[in-house]
Amino acid sequence: MPLPPIETRIQTLLAPASALAKGDDIIWKGHGFIWKAPETWMPQMTAWLEPRFRSAGWKKLSPGKFRDITCDDTEWLEVLQDCLKVDLDTCIDDLTAALAGARLWTYHGCRTEDAGLYFRDGLQRHDRQTMTRRLYDLVDGHETLAWLKPSLEQKIARTDNTIDLGRLYVVVDDDFMIETAGHYLIYGSEWILAVLGQAAHQVLKSIGVPTLLEIDLPLDAVASGDRREFAADLLMEWTRRACNVTDWHTPLNFTFCLEQDIPPAWIVGHSHPARIEDQFDDFRAYVSPRSTCRHCEPQS
Ligand SMILES: [Zn+2]
Repeated sequence: MPLPPIETRIQTLLAPASALAKGDDIIWKGHGFIWKAPETWMPQMTAWLEPRFRSAGWKKLSPGKFRDITCDDTEWLEVLQDCLKVDLDTCIDDLTAALAGARLWTYHGCRTEDAGLYFRDGLQRHDRQTMTRRLYDLVDGHETLAWLKPSLEQKIARTDNTIDLGRLYVVVDDDFMIETAGHYLIYGSEWILAVLGQAAHQVLKSIGVPTLLEIDLPLDAVASGDRREFAADLLMEWTRRACNVTDWHTPLNFTFCLEQDIPPAWIVGHSHPARIEDQFDDFRAYVSPRSTCRHCEPQS
C-alpha cells in the first residue's frame, strides 16, 4: 500500500489526540512488519517521523553519515531527539499508541512432534495443572526416568517458579533466540526442564523436533508498557540505520509477555532450525537429527 502524502500525515499530527483513537494511525493501522526485515518498516517509520522533524532536522541527522555508536546504545535516541520538533518522550508515546494498530511477526520456541497441533489449537498459556500432568506422563513413559518418580512431588515443590503461570512468551528476533535462549527448542518446556534437571536432558532431546512457531501478532494484544519499550527500540534502530547505512540488524533481546492464549489464526508458519546454541552445554552447537515434524514431513 502506498504511504499517505506528507500533507495528510501533517494534518494527522496536528489533530487533537482525542481525534486519533489508539491504533488508528494512518501509517501503522493494519501494517504487518518484521524486525529483521527493515524494508518492511523503515519506509513507514520514515514517513511517520517526517512531520515530527524540525525544519533543519534532516540536515542535523545527515542520513548516511556514520556515527561510532554501538547498536544498543540509547545515545541513538539522543541523536534522534536533536532532529525532532517534539519531545522524545512524546514521540515514543505517540508511536506506542500508533503501533497498537500494527502487527509484528514474532516467534515462540518449543519442541514438538507435530507443529500441526498449534495450527489447529493455537498456543495456550502455561497452565500448571496441564504441565504437571505432562510431566508425570513423561516420567511414566520413560524407563530411564522411573527413578525420579518417588521424589517428583518434592522436586515440583522445590521448583518454586510461578513467573510462567497464566503467561505465554513470544520473541521479536528469532536469530537472537537461537543464539542465546535455544533451550526452549532443544529441551521444550522450561518448567519441566527445571523440575527434572540434567538427569532428563537426553530424554527431553529425544522427543519431537526443535521448532520455531511464527506468530503474526497484533500489537494491541501486548501490554502498552512492553509496546512502549519496543517503540523505543524501533526508533533507535531506525536512527542507526538512517545514519550508518548497514546490511545487518541489531540482535534484539526482546520478549513480549502475553496474558492470553494465541488463537490458531495468528500462527502463520513454523520452521525447524538445524543448529542451536545450547546454554546447558557451554553454548556448544546442538545439531538437530531431524528437520521435519509430522506436519511438514513429506507424505509417502
Ligand atoms: Zn514441521
